[in-house]
Amino acid sequence: MAKIVILGGSFGGLTAAFELKRLLGKAGDITLLSDMGKFVFIPSLPWLAMGWRKPEDITLPLRPILERRGIKFIHAEAKGVDADSAKVVTALGEIPYDYLVIATGPSLAFEEVPGLGPDKGHTECIFTLEQAERTNKAWNRFLEEPGPIVTGSVQGVSCFGPPYEYAFEMDYELRRMKIRHKAPIVFVTPEPYIGHFGIGGLGNSKRIMEDEFAKRDIKVITNAAVEEFVPAEVRLKDGSKIPHKLAMFAPAMKGVPAVAHLGNPRGFIPVDGKCRHTKHKNIFAAGVAVAIAPPEQTPVPTGVPKTGFMTVKMAKTTAYSIAAEIAGSAAPASYEMDVLCLMDMGDTAALMRAKPLLPPRQESELKSGVIYKWSKVLFEKYFLWKIKHGLSNLP
Ligand SMILES: Cc1cc2nc3c(=O)[nH]c(=O)nc-3n(C[C@H](O)[C@H](O)[C@H](O)COP(=O)(O)OP(=O)(O)OC[C@H]3O[C@@H](n4cnc5c(N)ncnc54)[C@H](O)[C@@H]3O)c2cc1C
Repeated sequence: MAKIVILGGSFGGLTAAFELKRLLGKAGDITLLSDMGKFVFIPSLPWLAMGWRKPEDITLPLRPILERRGIKFIHAEAKGVDADSAKVVTALGEIPYDYLVIATGPSLAFEEVPGLGPDKGHTECIFTLEQAERTNKAWNRFLEEPGPIVTGSVQGVSCFGPPYEYAFEMDYELRRMKIRHKAPIVFVTPEPYIGHFGIGGLGNSKRIMEDEFAKRDIKVITNAAVEEFVPAEVRLKDGSKIPHKLAMFAPAMKGVPAVAHLGNPRGFIPVDGKCRHTKHKNIFAAGVAVAIAPPEQTPVPTGVPKTGFMTVKMAKTTAYSIAAEIAGSAAPASYEMDVLCLMDMGDTAALMRAKPLLPPRQESELKSGVIYKWSKVLFEKYFLWKIKHGLSNLP
């Protein structure tokens, strides 16, 4: 029986685990290792930061949903991978594998900008459950005595969507409370233009986003690189200083330390179209852990976002590739790197679609409307239901 070890219990790891079990049945001995005991629906973290969701609304315990499907669960951190002897190293001992699936997501590189981040720095973040909960507390304190807000991304960021959502959501909430005039908002980004998103824009996203920011009276600074964050002030490399009472910034990402030695200089894993490691043939990777080169060099460095939709596609390709190899059947088609994403905008939302992900493209669009807000809410409920019941084969 093939022993398959999966690292990470989120979009990539869970999809790969459920699909492998469905395809292999008793022929697959599947173990999922995660340093977290629960699945977090990350796209709802900006809502949690706004106080619109509670942790229990967007989390599921991993052990019961995996064990019910005959998948072993180990709640432990992978400390390393020895690719030569095909073993994962953990504090609980070594775990041998025939196939390894890396779905460990990112390590958040706060250390790359002085003063960045909630632990050792002076900014909030909304990329993990703990950070979003902390940001919600900071938001509630801020509301008692509002003032200037600065939000956005530092140089090298790839996950651009959440700061956009957060800026729009704060604007909406402050207007609803009739205190928007007390809280000027500045949006800082390394993108060459607003709506670039690290992928050269989508359709007329530049024009739409410029209009949306203007309509909401949010000041935008593009091509921005941050020199440092000090208490209550952001200092940009061009010498400008932006004072604030609340700052939330997205950090750049790297591969997680346990697998970084298998990756490129930033620790992301190089894979082929079947999600197989380009050097280690029994190692596969899916999601944010995968290396994707930017489509163009921007004046200030930006990275390529890896969305949940792309992650699920990669995880399915990973499962089909491994199952085909075990069964001795033909390898699946290479996964298509395209994107379908819903971006919240407070009172409305935007649908973003690009096929393929990077230009030149066959199709690409960004359009906004209240229908996408409701679609986003419904998608949250649907995805959590799908994960709870292990139904990753559904769209
Ligand atoms: C705030 C925010 C909002 C987003 N909104 C959207 C959206 O609206 N739509 C969309 O499509 N995408 C969105 N994304 C992107 C989406 O969340 C990611 O594409 C998706 O989470 C990637 O899944 P993953 O499995 O690759 O990695 P992750 O979700 O990061 O999961 C990695 C898992 O591996 C575990 N892990 C890490 N290291 C180890 C280790 N050493 N040992 C064991 N376990 C480990 C982690 O605990 C985690 O559970 C958003 C991202 C963020 C941050």
